[in-house]
Amino acid sequence: MLWVGLSGGIGSGKSTVSRRLAELGAVVIDADVIAREVVEPGMPSLAAIAERFGPEVLGSEGYLDRAALGAIVFADPQARRDLEAITHPAIAERTWELVAAAPDDAVVVHDIPLLVELDRAGDYALTVIVDVPAEVRLERLVRDRGMDEGEARRRIEAQADDAARHRAADVLLDNTGTVEELHARVDEIWSERLVPFEENLRHGIPSRRPEQLTLVDPDPGWPAEAGRLLARVRHALGEAVLRADHVGSTSIEGLVAKDVIDLQVIVEDTALLDDPAVGERLARVGLLVVDRDGGWFDHAHVDNAHVGHAHVGHAHADATRETWPKRMVATADPARVLHCHVRPAESPAWELALQFRDWLRQDPAARQDYRDLKLGLQDQGLGSTDYAEAKEPWFAAALPRAREWAEATGWEPDGRAEGQPG
Ligand code: ADP
Repeated sequence: MLWVGLSGGIGSGKSTVSRRLAELGAVVIDADVIAREVVEPGMPSLAAIAERFGPEVLGSEGYLDRAALGAIVFADPQARRDLEAITHPAIAERTWELVAAAPDDAVVVHDIPLLVELDRAGDYALTVIVDVPAEVRLERLVRDRGMDEGEARRRIEAQADDAARHRAADVLLDNTGTVEELHARVDEIWSERLVPFEENLRHGIPSRRPEQLTLVDPDPGWPAEAGRLLARVRHALGEAVLRADHVGSTSIEGLVAKDVIDLQVIVEDTALLDDPAVGERLARVGLLVVDRDGGWFDHAHVDNAHVGHAHVGHAHADATRETWPKRMVATADPARVLHCHVRPAESPAWELALQFRDWLRQDPAARQDYRDLKLGLQDQGLGSTDYAEAKEPWFAAALPRAREWAEATGWEPDGRAEGQPG
């Protein structure tokens, strides 16, 4: 089962996308429909709403007067929060009932208008956001739905802005073209991403980096993507996460890198990943624990004193270098390679990974040096495994420089990890 969030501003074409996905075979769960169901006469949420907002929000025969309530909550953020505190738990309960009823191999699409506003990208294995400039949405709402222009404008303004939507989107569906063009793009995402993602997840197959090393120019979308993935890990592991960060080359602005996102998650005890309930929560957000014979290790660099850069797919524990165990989590998303290093708090490796990252972030010469090394190794035609090994001498020299910088500046891992809510 793949759990997908679908959203977009009012009038963006979200319903058009959701209908197309249903035609293709997705199980669509419509948050608006559920939101209406839970406030039907006789439902406990309706009584609570009448108590909070007064009898004037009840129309004839005890039905909710949606227009009257809408007028209140669109004008008053606190009123909206109060309404949400009443309805959200009931909506969540009904939603999970429907998810549980979906077939094991279903792509389940949650059509949810407030995904971005509620900052919920991390609840899903993948988010699909329909994107259209606000002026076009306004025009379509007035023209096709006969909405009053002022009302349409107010509703659009009450929603998230485009930048927030883009940050929340794994897949941004541009709907400035025709409906046919939109359908074609949905069909493509269905067959190339959603279906294989679901299959990989169900069979426990993580996306792996290609053995052929390819460095790419820095992608400005990496930090936001890492943020979504961090939110997913946090969502799945909850309170067990002591801190979680984007690390590795994609976390350093302007650096060429393999298109592999490295995350680092610190927990007290990595054995929590063996709990089947944790495995289920990871799968809900598209993630898999990747184990291998002999386990995964960080290892000290050359002179044991200077450790900390994480090499994924690197040597097993070997007798000549000090090693620290870790676990690995990956995604089954065919469009993303993720190396999420789950390290125990006692491992010396995590602090050094942060130190190395922060040193590179603030030292342009070091970044340039690292970039030259990477490009030089790529030119030698190395595979990814040999490449990791060939970087070793450079690290042996660079890590003491990072440490000197850290000591000179009184560096500490910053208190606030990345992708942390609030
Ligand atoms: P939402 O569910 O996001 O509010 P809809 O899917 O209902 O949006 O689309 C809003 C309106 O715009 C509908 O009347 C729909 O038919 C129309 N529409 C959607 N996509 C396009 C498009 N690409 N070109 C023209 N009109 C569109």
